[in-house]
Amino acid sequence: MALNCPACRRPNENSDTCARCGADLAALQCVRAAAQAQLVRGRRLLQQGRGGEALGCATLSWRLKKSPAAARLAFLASLHLGRFDQACRWYAAATGGEQGGRPANPPFAPIQPGPP
Ligand SMILES: [Zn+2]
Repeated sequence: MALNCPACRRPNENSDTCARCGADLAALQCVRAAAQAQLVRGRRLLQQGRGGEALGCATLSWRLKKSPAAARLAFLASLHLGRFDQACRWYAAATGGEQGGRPANPPFAPIQPGPP
């Protein structure tokens, strides 16, 4: 997935430097990788029936990068936990609903650390 340069908006694929303007993208790549790692971990936890920990991972991923994938995982974890009001708000964030395509302001659950 391409990372848009914050300086010139050029999409860059897996590069630590913008191909157009030379901006340093390394920190942004690290943030994106951390968000993706939380998603992977959260999905695994949800498959194991550990919804609270999965929700924590999804929330952390959302805080790092407001991606529809993070909101979808939080939605599923909220359903698993029976928190339907919270699930509805995450659904809105996942689909860009209620705010004209911008991510909604979802609830944040406390982050529950789990095993690495
Ligand atoms: Zn650039």
